[in-house]
Amino acid sequence: GFRMGIVGLPNVGKSTLFNALTRTASAQAANFPFCTIEPNVGEVAVPDTRLDKLAGIAKSKQIIPTRMTFVDIAGLVKGASKGEGLGNQFLANIREVDAIAHVLRCFEDDDVTHVDGRVDPVSDAETIETELIIADMESLEKRLQNIVRKVKGGDKEAIQQERLMKDALAVLEEGKPARMVEVAEDDQKAWRMLQLLSSKPVLYVCNVNEADAATGNALSEKVAAMAAEQGNGHVVISAQIEEEISQLDAEEAAEFLEELGLEEAGLDRLIKAGYDLLHLETYFTVGPKEARAWTIKTGTQAPQAAGVIHGDFEKGFIRAETISYDDFIAHNGEQGAKDAGRMRAEGKSYTVKDGDVLHFLFNN
Ligand code: GDP
Repeated sequence: GFRMGIVGLPNVGKSTLFNALTRTASAQAANFPFCTIEPNVGEVAVPDTRLDKLAGIAKSKQIIPTRMTFVDIAGLVKGASKGEGLGNQFLANIREVDAIAHVLRCFEDDDVTHVDGRVDPVSDAETIETELIIADMESLEKRLQNIVRKVKGGDKEAIQQERLMKDALAVLEEGKPARMVEVAEDDQKAWRMLQLLSSKPVLYVCNVNEADAATGNALSEKVAAMAAEQGNGHVVISAQIEEEISQLDAEEAAEFLEELGLEEAGLDRLIKAGYDLLHLETYFTVGPKEARAWTIKTGTQAPQAAGVIHGDFEKGFIRAETISYDDFIAHNGEQGAKDAGRMRAEGKSYTVKDGDVLHFLFNN
């Protein structure tokens, strides 16, 4: 599955947000409670109203949303790359996530101390990014030394790695994140293997007070501008509201949201924004037993999409009977779509589209 790491300076609202995420039952149907894997790791359902509609038409007994994993990565402070605070453990945790949800304090409250004595989310974002940049530089310098011998020996892979590492270092040394390096298509795989912390996409989570939850505020606007410039994402959330919502049942939560002028719980928006940031899509499998959503990267071909369900589906892939979401709805289900000639037999080179309802045929 896909993993999002929650980071941020101390006292910005990370724990509040993570606890709300892990307790919320709102968007998650009762049959899909949040499950805690480890104290700081949790899986949440990706909210998707399409799944409920498909299940309604197919009279599916069970609805199983697709999931995203959140990891609460505490301990980042200025100097973390030098091993202060939880330093190295923290950095190792970041290496393992696909994207970073960076919580920024965008609320004023004299009772909550700010580590630097002032509320400035843009500067906080820079503080953390700098730590990631320094950590990347140090790891690259070490790794460059370690492959010198292989490069001299003419090892093609090592030569490619060395070239990419040097490209990265040049950018990092200008104080910019590795995300800014332009990577050719042929180098993408080797680049990902470098697992640079500052190459991960970032979703800024602007934590605002209750009164600003619907509108944002001057601080969150500054973050939005920064995110746009960097090509990163941002969402405005009030962690305190989310914590309150997490203690309500679905109906009460909906009423509370309406009172606040919010269409959707912040956590749902956070999950969706993470999905967008990672270029993820959903396809569905629908039958009387269950309706289920599956996550793939945009551009995934049918056999690899099948492989998300089971390795055997990918290995023995024959074809995918495919109905688009719109056709499934318009023709009132699989049989109707079939009768209307809207079911397609797609082969190995088919690129799965968001919302496709798929039925895989495969050899055992
Ligand atoms: P962490 O250190 O980043 O995990 O921060 P916490 O989640 O522990 O929050 C630090 C303090 O800020 C706690 O006392 C929270 O109740 C408070 N807090 C969190 N979010 C908000 C908010 O949106 N507004 C206000 N006023 N306080 C908040």
